[in-house]
Amino acid sequence: MRVIIVGAGVIGASIAYVFSTIKNVEVIVVEKEPDVCWGVSKANTGIIHPGHEEDPRAHPLRAKLCVEGNKIWREWSSLMNIPFEERGELMIFTTLEERREALKYVEFAKLNNVPGVSLLEGQEVLMLERGVAPSVLGAVYAKTAGIISPFEATITLIENSVANGAKLLVNTEVKRIIIENGEVRGVETNRGIIDGDVVVNAAGLYSDKLAHTAGVELDFKIRPRRGQYIVFERDVEPKPRVILHTTPTPLTKGVYVVTTVHGNLLIGPTAEDLDYDEKENTATTETGLEQLIKEASKIYRIPPRSKVIRFFSGLRPEPPDGNWLIKAYDDPWGLISVAGIRSPGLTAAPAIAYYVKEIVEEVFDLKFEGKEEIKVIKSMERMAEKSYKEIDKLIRQNPDYGEVVCYCNVVSKAEVLEALRRTLEIGAVPTIDGVKFRTTAGFGRCQGSKCRINVAQIISEVTGKPLHAVMWRRSPIGIGDVKVLLRQEI
Ligand SMILES: Cc1cc2nc3c(=O)[nH]c(=O)nc-3n(C[C@H](O)[C@H](O)[C@H](O)COP(=O)(O)OP(=O)(O)OC[C@H]3O[C@@H](n4cnc5c(N)ncnc54)[C@H](O)[C@@H]3O)c2cc1C
Repeated sequence: MRVIIVGAGVIGASIAYVFSTIKNVEVIVVEKEPDVCWGVSKANTGIIHPGHEEDPRAHPLRAKLCVEGNKIWREWSSLMNIPFEERGELMIFTTLEERREALKYVEFAKLNNVPGVSLLEGQEVLMLERGVAPSVLGAVYAKTAGIISPFEATITLIENSVANGAKLLVNTEVKRIIIENGEVRGVETNRGIIDGDVVVNAAGLYSDKLAHTAGVELDFKIRPRRGQYIVFERDVEPKPRVILHTTPTPLTKGVYVVTTVHGNLLIGPTAEDLDYDEKENTATTETGLEQLIKEASKIYRIPPRSKVIRFFSGLRPEPPDGNWLIKAYDDPWGLISVAGIRSPGLTAAPAIAYYVKEIVEEVFDLKFEGKEEIKVIKSMERMAEKSYKEIDKLIRQNPDYGEVVCYCNVVSKAEVLEALRRTLEIGAVPTIDGVKFRTTAGFGRCQGSKCRINVAQIISEVTGKPLHAVMWRRSPIGIGDVKVLLRQEI
């Protein structure tokens, strides 16, 4: 049986991984971008939520899969070495009204069977996390909250899927799902037709439009809800150990103040409903960023603005009533929607994948059998996280470890080459952004001003592409790069 998965975000990647571990199933992942994780999954807070913020009455499936996903990520991250840390989370309240709202989540925790959730008052919060604004009234503490690197997670899942037989097709945009005689026949893409027995629509913000091409869910429309962020340098003080956020509102889970897995202070997101056709509007705005500073300052000592290194925004694929659309259809037979996966989609992704497997068996009357042997690919290791002794050993074995490409994040040429090898191995296209997501080169203080040209040069050497073709649309050539080229320093 051939299963075509449209979309290589965290949802498509999780489904691809689960299906690649099943006997007699051929998995093809089709992605319109040159690499994986270039959609919603690359720009979010990276929180693995405990599940106490999900209302089990309004969104029962979301609540169930969030709690399950939190557990499965622990297994997957230790199996594949995906950067994940359990940090615990404080939902902070600063007024009595917010306290009343926060108590609701202690109740949800009981209903959703979320362990380790308790109410803390005043000083108890300060004892857990220094830097919290002294005026806070209290917080709901949730022990099982964690943090993950969303792109490393998605990339590693695709690497594991490919190692277990899946095929990834990038730069391949699905134009329509082909239905004949009430059954799925495959997909029509910009590169031709791909035959398939089952099509999984995991196209993120575009999953509504794709569903419509199959003649289903014609009233289902996804609205982009923008979330803006501010990133600070790694060396700012203080940085919270625990994940902090303001009390949720009907629109969002609140504004977060977190230290990312790579050590940057991150605050955000905002929650702004955009028009339906603004699915690419990832602009940041002065109003949005000012609002973040104001909200975050209510709960934490925010560093000066001179320490900011980057603003960015992501778009939540908001379904009409907040409910995810996860459904296997018997008419047209073979179609599966995994659409409108807004937060906590990153958390729930592994549980969503197992749930999809379950409904495919049930609705299509199939019985899957797992493969006897499943290959495991570990995510990339970072030289910067090793001891001096280990680095010394690495350089002796391979001198490319001694050639630093990105000085801010201490990324070596050997790591860039390894990232490119892995990119080509899964069938994706090497790009500067792809190297950034795999190695962190370009995520540091200078935001790639220095290393982008070095990375481009290495990509050019490996792929044989001219430099201007490597510095493509998402990483346009900058004035500094032109000067370097003119001086012929590369
Ligand atoms: C601001 C923000 C903060 C968030 N914070 C969190 C959080 O902390 N924790 C959490 O659990 N969740 C969080 N989320 C939610 C989480 O990021 C999403 O639920 C998840 O990333 C959705 O993944 P996806 O695979 O459905 O979408 P995507 O990552 O967008 O993947 C869909 C893929 O399909 C491709 N595609 C689209 N159309 C086509 C086509 N026609 N042909 C081929 N390919 C196509 C796209 O290029 C894309 O790569 C947040 C979301 C946002 C925006």
